[in-house]
Amino acid sequence: MAKLEEGLGDWRRTHYSIQITPELDGESVTLFGWVSSIRTQGGIVFIVLTDRDGNVQVTVNKGKASKETLARVEALKPHSSVAVQGVVKAMAKAPNGAEVVPERLKILSIATEIPSFSVYGGETPSLDKRLDIRAVDLRRDKAQATFKIQRVVLSSVREFLSGRGYLEVRTPKLISTATEGGASLFSVLYYNRPSFLAQSPQLYKEELVLPFEKVYEIGPAFRAEESRTQRHLSEITSIDIEEAFVDYNDVMDTLEALIKHVVVSVKDDCSKDLEKLGRGALSVPDRFERLRYTEVVEHLAKEGEDATWGEDLTGPTTEELGKEHPSFYFITDWPTQTKPFYIKPKEDEPKLSEAFDLMYGALELASGGSRVSSKSLLVKRLKEQKLKPQAFEHHLKVFDYGMPPHAGFGLGMERLTMVLAGEENIREVTLYPRDKLRLTP
Ligand code: ATP
Ligand code: MG
Repeated sequence: MAKLEEGLGDWRRTHYSIQITPELDGESVTLFGWVSSIRTQGGIVFIVLTDRDGNVQVTVNKGKASKETLARVEALKPHSSVAVQGVVKAMAKAPNGAEVVPERLKILSIATEIPSFSVYGGETPSLDKRLDIRAVDLRRDKAQATFKIQRVVLSSVREFLSGRGYLEVRTPKLISTATEGGASLFSVLYYNRPSFLAQSPQLYKEELVLPFEKVYEIGPAFRAEESRTQRHLSEITSIDIEEAFVDYNDVMDTLEALIKHVVVSVKDDCSKDLEKLGRGALSVPDRFERLRYTEVVEHLAKEGEDATWGEDLTGPTTEELGKEHPSFYFITDWPTQTKPFYIKPKEDEPKLSEAFDLMYGALELASGGSRVSSKSLLVKRLKEQKLKPQAFEHHLKVFDYGMPPHAGFGLGMERLTMVLAGEENIREVTLYPRDKLRLTP
């Protein structure tokens, strides 16, 4: 007999597993997928073939099948990749009410390894174990559901923003200066010069309001996070917008409408996926509360929390806040000293800034604000934050050419997916997560 493994040849898929229904009784079909289980009962071999969309039962009658088919069936192991040409048979007991009786069966690739954990049902092993063989782990039902939700997050964000006239842009990720001054940048050798991986598209997106007025970018951002938490990665996908002739209140309105659009899209398009994850659709408040930072800190201090005016809200403090506000809300008017140099101080009260964070319970989803559009103020703010204006020469030059008032935000795509999929660990919503201890696979 010829080799057990064969090529694709001229076989092409006619149906996915979920399309095999009793109405197709008697039709010839070609299916592709992987063997997720195989068992023999009496003279019948039951093979469950799994593809992207689900399962279909393939039934081989040992007494009727050809010698070649039988030899192949005998060699089959779970996880092998197979192709089946056969006839649909309505069968009440089979999943979807129909099964396929093969006329020919090809083994495209025999699995030589079995994962150390069960991909199809059973207990979910530790994340680290699964990440080591992530491409196989992603076949799990829950992972499939999570990334279908993420697909809808991304498509609905694009639909919303391009529908409102924002232009999608791409800005460089290899940059020459440590833009926001933080220590949290990765350095890279650029030919023989030092360079960095961008921690956000901030300065470029601000410049781009000059030619385009309204821009957005969905792209990677790199952060050398020292602490390993459930909500931080070293490489993320950031959803950024920047817009001319508006302030932070307007972009909060936009962000609120964007979140509502995404939630409704996931609810409409992902009901099966939410079900697989054991979740209902998220309920969203009619209007997101807008809490002022100073009032939040005063309230938390009164409750005995360790909250000090002028510092970022962290750890147990945000946990407490999250208990009181379990859904979406904004914290606005942050102390200027807690925010980056490009955030605009309030004109009547410069100790405070036109800045906001969007929260979901204790989780920060986005940060944004009105930006400084005056060059002299920007230089002053750089110096206050111990940054060298010379290092920002190219950026500052743009402000000589009529930089309009503008505002924007950066929204973490993975954090938003965590909320929608109900995941506690950001690694579950990231195909190949990167953190201090993990650079593979
Ligand atoms: P955090 O305080 O949670 O560390 P941040 O304030 O440093 O976040 P920003 O610079 O405001 O983050 O970035 C905008 C958004 O990008 C955040 O609100 C968050 O959703 C996302 N984000 C930032 N850093 C990370 C990270 N290391 N891992 C995952 N998401 C991140
Ligand atoms: Mg932030």
